Amino acid sequence: MSHYRSNLRDIAFNLFEVFGRDEVLGRGPFAQMDGPTAREVLAEVERLATGPFADGFVEGDRVGAQLVGEGEVVLDAGTRRALDAYFGGEWHRLNLPEHLGGFGASPSLQWACSELLLGANPAAVLYSGGPFFATILDGLVTAEQRERMVAPMVERRWGATMVLTEPDAGSDVGAGRTSAVLADDGTWHLTGTKRFITSGDFDWPENIVHLVLARPQGAGPGTKGLSLFIVPKFWVHEDGSLGERNGAVVTGIEDKMGLKASSTCTLTLGEQVAARGLLVGEVHDGIRQMFKVIEYARMLVGTKAIATLSTGYLNALDYAKQRVQGAELARAADKTAPRVAIIRHPDVRRMLMTQKAHVEGLRALTLYTATVQDDIVVGEADGRDMTDAQRRNDLLLPLVKGYGSEKSYELLALSLQVFGGSGYCRDYPLEQYLRDAKIDTLYEGTTGIQALDLFFRKIARDSGAALAALLGEILAFAKGDAGNGALAQERALLATGLEDVQGMLGTLVGFLGHDSGRGVELVGLQTTSLLESLAELVVGWLLLRQAEVALAALFRLGNSGAPAPPGAAAGDRDAAFYEGKVAAARFFVRTVLPELTARRAVLERTDLAVMELADAAL
Ligand SMILES: Cc1cc2nc3c(=O)[nH]c(=O)nc-3n(C[C@H](O)[C@H](O)[C@H](O)COP(=O)(O)OP(=O)(O)OC[C@H]3O[C@@H](n4cnc5c(N)ncnc54)[C@H](O)[C@@H]3O)c2cc1C
Repeated sequence: MSHYRSNLRDIAFNLFEVFGRDEVLGRGPFAQMDGPTAREVLAEVERLATGPFADGFVEGDRVGAQLVGEGEVVLDAGTRRALDAYFGGEWHRLNLPEHLGGFGASPSLQWACSELLLGANPAAVLYSGGPFFATILDGLVTAEQRERMVAPMVERRWGATMVLTEPDAGSDVGAGRTSAVLADDGTWHLTGTKRFITSGDFDWPENIVHLVLARPQGAGPGTKGLSLFIVPKFWVHEDGSLGERNGAVVTGIEDKMGLKASSTCTLTLGEQVAARGLLVGEVHDGIRQMFKVIEYARMLVGTKAIATLSTGYLNALDYAKQRVQGAELARAADKTAPRVAIIRHPDVRRMLMTQKAHVEGLRALTLYTATVQDDIVVGEADGRDMTDAQRRNDLLLPLVKGYGSEKSYELLALSLQVFGGSGYCRDYPLEQYLRDAKIDTLYEGTTGIQALDLFFRKIARDSGAALAALLGEILAFAKGDAGNGALAQERALLATGLEDVQGMLGTLVGFLGHDSGRGVELVGLQTTSLLESLAELVVGWLLLRQAEVALAALFRLGNSGAPAPPGAAAGDRDAAFYEGKVAAARFFVRTVLPELTARRAVLERTDLAVMELADAAL
């Protein structure tokens, strides 16, 4: 049986019942893809995920990507089969705009499908990104470069990489030393060593396009001095035909904790053969251009994280229903009491509900962010100014990536815990899930970097305007009364959580003018706490919005919401689903949001003691 447990019901609930995608699909830029077609696509992608993608998951881990010969990386057979199935079914077109041969899918549908594939086999998804990278280049390059690079990347299914990191330039991307010199023929010759490059080489596509940040000779320091270059593995002539092997060569791959099927490469540029590149567009604007890729990658990583938690939770749920151990707590002293499935034990139920509430909340956060991206595409197609929606998307991305990855990793440990000792063994996928998911808190900016980005770039830089708009919506919801008062207590808790977050923000802004002149350090001690708290507030809000929809659905079903018995009719199963939605929202708001009050109190008492302590005393 496939390791992968999908949750298409909850994905569809988000897309169609909560976020009303039927109103958006089938028109404007998504004219080709209406709601019913989108549902069929989801069902097909689920088959791809639970079939060929999931089938290669364990093999990819046990065999791993292997470096052989002159910088060639060989994939395991399972990952190859997943890529064959993906491209054979033309599924890469799902992530392409229509003018590049895409199906006209909205971002929300794309991310919903990505969740399914990422949960089943994240490494295969990472290898499959070339055509999507082409869509980013499409908006940045010259007409000549478009013809030469973008079209073949899509049609010939080339691989692609994002190449920023160097041994001495990790979080500090601006410390990069890779240099670029303009040659007589108008190409650039790059020299340097890049580290940790995902999919830096693999033996599936005929070519790989590296998007490399490098510093043109004479350019200034820091990120502003970086330009973006297209550096193909095999040179691409102006007519799109392939030329000689270029001097971007993989000289090592990492032996990692997890995600072993995904090659993580040292990419050496210009060591023996010149590494020729094309400047992207005609401007030296590398970091801004690369941010288009980074934003996509951050959303991808957040989606990967929650996809893994979702399958982790559903595996744990299955196990808890089957594993019989001990008697019910109320009859624990009675030696004759029947043994029960562990799902009957309060502590196991606590673990399961904690996972369920978080993963459904995180899915809501991710798909809500995707609907903001839908709005941007629709608005831009109409020629409207979408700056506000763009800022909201920017504000949400650190939450999706930072909070999504931290919580998923933390709670996957709880999924494993449900299995007892069996979870620690390779008979079950949990130990691999945990190892594969840890990377999500690290790449595309660590959580610490996400938190700094949230406060200084996404909140402070626009004087809190994007945040204020979001908090305004949360306040309006908290003060609302839809649902016949069934959620009154939860709305009150949401309002308290909102006050706590506003209080934290006020304190952090106040720190900036601190008498010590070191207020920014006080802020830096608490930005991760802010990220976590804001994310939990937004998740609480989204879960309550879901609960409102679920309560209305239960009312329509005329059902009290009693759990569905085995073999129940579809309507009863739906009742159980909606009842679960209401319960998850209540659980999250009642058990997680009160923690914000304690966190606010801690934040208000921040002082410089940790900073003043000698390093030797740490
Ligand atoms: C498997 C894998 C795949 C990767 N794929 C790619 C890829 O495809 N392309 C690519 O370019 N890179 C890639 N990376 C690199 C990845 O993005 C970096 O590892 C990451 O950004 C962190 O950089 P670092 O490892 O150098 O850690 P460091 O920057 O050294 O950070 C170490 C610690 O210090 C903290 N820290 C650092 N600076 C600050 C600061 N200013 N304030 C507060 N805290 C700070 C960090 O949060 C972290 O906890 C990959 C890495 C891995 C492991």
